[in-house]
Amino acid sequence: MQNTNPDISEVENVTKELSLKLSEAASGPGASALPAQYREGLGFRPKSGLSTPQIIQDEEAREHSSPIPDQYGLAKSTLSRLHSTQEERLQREAKLAAAVRTLLECIGEDPDREGLQRTPARYAQALMWMTRGYEERLSDVINDAIFAEDHDEMVIVRDIDVFSLCEHHLVPFTGKISIGYIPNKLVLGLSKLARIAETFSRRLQVQERLTRQVAIAVQEAIKPQGVAVVMEATHLCMTMRGVQKPGSTTVTSTMLGAFRTRQKTREEFLTLIRSPSRI
Ligand SMILES: [Zn+2]
Repeated sequence: MQNTNPDISEVENVTKELSLKLSEAASGPGASALPAQYREGLGFRPKSGLSTPQIIQDEEAREHSSPIPDQYGLAKSTLSRLHSTQEERLQREAKLAAAVRTLLECIGEDPDREGLQRTPARYAQALMWMTRGYEERLSDVINDAIFAEDHDEMVIVRDIDVFSLCEHHLVPFTGKISIGYIPNKLVLGLSKLARIAETFSRRLQVQERLTRQVAIAVQEAIKPQGVAVVMEATHLCMTMRGVQKPGSTTVTSTMLGAFRTRQKTREEFLTLIRSPSRI
């Protein structure tokens, strides 16, 4: 089946590539090192009938099981950040702080005045924290919380708070994201939906990509019948600079599978995420 959606077909390509590597690994000398459930697919899917979550113990397998959406837009430097030693971390922060000092000079400030003396170091630490999603792999976030269940009704976690940084201006955009899916034998621990949103939002983002990455992550993790993600956010780069009126919001959505093909399903989701909270 040829999928014309560029994002999805890219995922399929990577999936094929990964499957190929896996089958090579499975028949090669290191075959026995790979757990059976890992050889079955992407390291996410437990064997049918198992109701316990599957954890990949093997470090090497865990490394390879890095889920597909992580591959979007991540540079080599991301991996070096993920694997850096404590010393390298300190060096990185010092470099960043020096850059912030330059920045302060350029805007006409005196980096040595009392109020700003600690600002470069503080900002360096804050920025590393605000972009900590680069150090999180979805396989680590998700893998211990996939359960086999016969439930096949829509599951929705709505109004998850999201704080991210716009990659064009490096200023925040904040809002709420709602995630829904219809299970196909597997369900995700509910808190993991919020964790997925957190992982992707703590990177430099554009709202459209963030929305899509969250949807694809759920899709790849549990292969449900469909995934729907809607995000509404305010971008400081727009509201602060007066490009748009303060208070204006941007809404993005990604619909996959049943949510894309069945209008009724999509409408049910949209109605549910908009209905007033009763708790
Ligand atoms: Zn921006």
